[in-house]
Amino acid sequence: MLLIHCPYCEETLPELEFAYAGEAHIARPADPSALSDEEWRDFLFIRTNARGPHFERWRHIHGCAQFFNAVRDTVSDRFLMTYKAGAPRPDLSPKEDAE
Ligand SMILES: [Zn+2]
Repeated sequence: MLLIHCPYCEETLPELEFAYAGEAHIARPADPSALSDEEWRDFLFIRTNARGPHFERWRHIHGCAQFFNAVRDTVSDRFLMTYKAGAPRPDLSPKEDAE
């Protein structure tokens, strides 16, 4: 069973407490009527389907009911981090060692 940390409740709880809510950081177009059919299709349906770290939205449906974001490795199914909705997308690039 997956264990997921809610960044609002500050508790790590079983997956059954949560609901997946799609890919995170998908910005709604400012003027949808200005988009072509292909651009609108891409906004609605085209997702990254990443192999490895994937940015996702989750909702704590049996707790605080808040939406939050998570980074989950799709290979290991391990949650790398969770953070509050509206927070900037974390930089996952490797850090240089300060030697
Ligand atoms: Zn919560």
